[in-house]
Amino acid sequence: MKAQPEPLPDHLRALVGQGVDAIDTPALVVDLDAANRNLQRAVEFATKHRLRLRPHAKMHKSPAVARLELQAGAVGVCVQTVAEAEAMGAGGINDILITNEILAVNKLRRVAALAHQLSVRGGQLGIVVDSAEGVERLAQAMQLTKAVVDVYIEIDVGQGRCGVSPDEKVVTLARAVVARSSLRFAGLHAYHGGAQHLRTVGERHAAIVAAAAKVEDVRRLLEAADMPVPLVTGAGTGTFAHEAASGVWNEVQPGSFLFMDADYLRNDRDPAQPQFEPALFVKAQVISVSAGHAVCDAGLKAHAIDSGVPEVHALPGQPPLRFANGGDEHGVLHPLDESGPLSNLPALGDTVWLIPGHCDPTVNLHSHLVVVRDGLAGGRVESVVPVMARGVW
Ligand code: PLP
Ligand code: MN
Repeated sequence: MKAQPEPLPDHLRALVGQGVDAIDTPALVVDLDAANRNLQRAVEFATKHRLRLRPHAKMHKSPAVARLELQAGAVGVCVQTVAEAEAMGAGGINDILITNEILAVNKLRRVAALAHQLSVRGGQLGIVVDSAEGVERLAQAMQLTKAVVDVYIEIDVGQGRCGVSPDEKVVTLARAVVARSSLRFAGLHAYHGGAQHLRTVGERHAAIVAAAAKVEDVRRLLEAADMPVPLVTGAGTGTFAHEAASGVWNEVQPGSFLFMDADYLRNDRDPAQPQFEPALFVKAQVISVSAGHAVCDAGLKAHAIDSGVPEVHALPGQPPLRFANGGDEHGVLHPLDESGPLSNLPALGDTVWLIPGHCDPTVNLHSHLVVVRDGLAGGRVESVVPVMARGVW
């Protein structure tokens, strides 16, 4: 994460090269060594299983992080929004897949413009569809350019979110795609979000075995209609070992593996999957101490709690603590062992490190990632990375 074309305010640029102590709180901090280890493990797994790794950039929304993923061996990135796609394109990423249905005409014009830009520099844009209307609108917008966009038909493999039901409807939709010269039928998008946080390995395995059967049904229908499936893409951090084992997917899209979060760390360990470690932390400071608890300066504005409150990451020598929601700007810290001595509480001014419950919406709360090398205890700031596609567009 060294190359840094994105501009930085002076006070953040001044942080680079300084010790971790200089980082003001609350701040979102990436342990770069841990993130690199996670990345290496995912790349090794993908290589061993002959899978293309296309990490999901919805998690970090930062072209600088995407460049790190590509340098390590990823084939490109996924994004969820047009703004994320544009930010990745502007940050030099050439191979981008929008894994979401886009229906608004204005947004589709931006999709066409980006497809053009990427194709001019030898790159490629992909997008998923699940309706005839979506195909029609995309084809209309693509009239603005001579570029061709890769189109993946999204099938619902069990989540009950977007996606065509895995039956003859897919064949009808594929025919509509094939009929348009500006659209290339690139394959199937099959992502089972509902399976990612099933806690046991057995539950996750069963969900992906059922999803694989649906993909295979659709593949047979398409082959019978003379439209072989070029590629199947999908999978997330919780399940991608199962997609790999099925032999049905060619490409996997985990996002959270890079930074991890407390929710994913609560999944049962899967021996078939690389073990990932926490690499994303909120640095907070203790600003008040009373008889039975301490208070830190990180609250709902510093981390998302849709998947639970943060875990407190105790460094060697620090007391184990439990975090409780203290509102917008505060977190309440209790000793894990409430019956122990009060010395089990941190002191005023101490630093506490929090592992957010859910990495994606937590990153979206912050304008910058402070990237640290050589660990949280005694490390230094390597770079400060803007969250370029922050927001919901
Ligand atoms: N692919 C799609 C389509 C997604 O929506 C997501 C996340 O929601 C992912 C991949 C990545 O999942 P995770 O960050 O859990 O690895
Ligand atoms: Mn998520």
